[in-house]
Amino acid sequence: MTVSGRKQKVAIIGAGMGGLCAAVSLGKRGFDVSVYERAPELGEYGAGLQLGPNCFRVFRALGLERELRAVAFQPLANVSIKWDDASLRYRDPLKGVYEDLYGAPYLLAHRGDLHRLFRDNLPPDCVHTSKHCIGAHSQGDIAVARFADGSEVEADILIGADGIRSAIRQQLFGADQPRFTEQMAWRAIVPVDCAPRAFGPGKSTKLERGDYFGWLGPNGHVICYPIGDGERLNIFAGHVTTDWVEESWTAPSSKEELIAAHEGWNEALIEIFSNVGDVFKWGIFDRDPRPEWRSGRIVLLGDAAHPTMPTLAQGANMAIEDGYVIARRLAENAGDPVAGLKAFVAERQPRTARITLQSRQQFANNRMVPPPPPIPRDWIFEHDVTA
Ligand SMILES: Cc1cc2nc3c(=O)[nH]c(=O)nc-3n(C[C@H](O)[C@H](O)[C@H](O)COP(=O)(O)OP(=O)(O)OC[C@H]3O[C@@H](n4cnc5c(N)ncnc54)[C@H](O)[C@@H]3O)c2cc1C
Repeated sequence: MTVSGRKQKVAIIGAGMGGLCAAVSLGKRGFDVSVYERAPELGEYGAGLQLGPNCFRVFRALGLERELRAVAFQPLANVSIKWDDASLRYRDPLKGVYEDLYGAPYLLAHRGDLHRLFRDNLPPDCVHTSKHCIGAHSQGDIAVARFADGSEVEADILIGADGIRSAIRQQLFGADQPRFTEQMAWRAIVPVDCAPRAFGPGKSTKLERGDYFGWLGPNGHVICYPIGDGERLNIFAGHVTTDWVEESWTAPSSKEELIAAHEGWNEALIEIFSNVGDVFKWGIFDRDPRPEWRSGRIVLLGDAAHPTMPTLAQGANMAIEDGYVIARRLAENAGDPVAGLKAFVAERQPRTARITLQSRQQFANNRMVPPPPPIPRDWIFEHDVTA
C-alpha cells in the first residue's frame, strides 16, 4: 500500500496476539510494518487459549491454517461435571461438530505456540524489543510514538495494541482504571494422563483422553483442556472474590493455595490439582465498552480497546479478528487512512461491546443456583471477518 510512491508506514505498540496478528495481516497487504514491544525478549507466558471457528477463519485467510493445526488440539467432547459429587451434567461431542456447523473447528493451543507462529511469519527486523512506549500524538498526516529511552518513531498510522493497561489509551482518552470483575483465576499446566478416567457416583462419570471438561461450583468454575499435541492439560480455575489484593494483574501462587481454595470440591479434581507445578493467579479486569477508539491517525485494538472477562474465551479471538480487520479496512481505503481507521472502529465496536457485556452475563449466570444453560454462541462462531 503506497502513499507518494512509498509504502505506507504502520507502527504497532505491543507484540501480543492483537499486535502480531495485525503485523502479519498488514505485511501481507503490502504495508511497511514495525512492532515496538516493551519486554526485552519476545515470548508469551501464561497457558492455554481457546480458539473458536471465528478466529480459525483468520488463520485460514492468512494462509496459516496448516501451521495452526500443527500446534493446536481439537477436543473430542465438552464434558460438564458437578463440583461436589462429580456426577455428569452433560457430554456434548465437539470433534468434527464445529466443522459441520460452522465450517471451521474449535481448537486449543498454548499461547506461546501461537505467538511463535505469528512471529515466524514476520520479517526478522520487524519487531523491536525493549521499546517502552510512554506517549503518542497525531499531527496532520503523521502519528508519533515516544519511548522511555528517549527515542521517537513516526508513521502514517499508529496502532495501540498494548493491552488492558494501554499507555496509548491513557494518552488518547484519559487515565480511567479497569474494573475488577470479582473474579480471579489460577492457571497451570499438568500432564494429560494425570486426569482420572472414571470417577463420581459408581464411577459413572467417564473421561476420554482428549476431552475438554469443566466443573461448575457455587464459587468457581474450573476448566481443563488438552493443548498442542494433546499431551498437556491446561487448567483454568476461576474463583469469585470481592477483593484482589495483589498490585499486579498476575502473581505467583502455589499448589497448596489452589487446593485450599477448592475445599469440598470432588477428590477427582483435587487429584488433578495435586500434579500442578508452576501456578499463577490472575485478577480479572475489564472495562465498559467505549464508542471511540481512534484519535487522528492513532487507533486502539485488542485489550487496549475492549478488555473482556474470559468467560466466553473470546478476548484473544477478538484481538486476532481486530488484527485482520484493520489491515483489510486500511487496504480498502488506501488513499485515506483516517477513513480506513473509522471503518475499522465502526465494524469492530458493536461486536466487541456485545462480547464484553455477554461475558459479564455468563459470569453472572455461572453464579446462579442452578446455573442456566450456557449463553448461545452461534453469533460469535458464525461471524466471518474475512468474508
Ligand atoms: C486467565 C485468562 C484466561 C484467558 N483465556 C482466553 C481464552 O481462552 N481465549 C481467548 O480468546 N482469550 C482469553 N483470554 C484473554 C486474552 O488473554 C486477551 O484478550 C489477549 O491476550 C489480548 O491480546 P492483546 O494483544 O490485545 O493484549 P496483550 O496480550 O496484553 O498484549 C499486549 C502487549 O503489549 C505490550 N505492552 C504493554 N504496554 C506497552 C508499552 N507501554 N509499550 C510497549 N509495549 C507494551 C505487552 O508487553 C504485551 O506484549 C484470557 C485472559 C485471562 C486473564
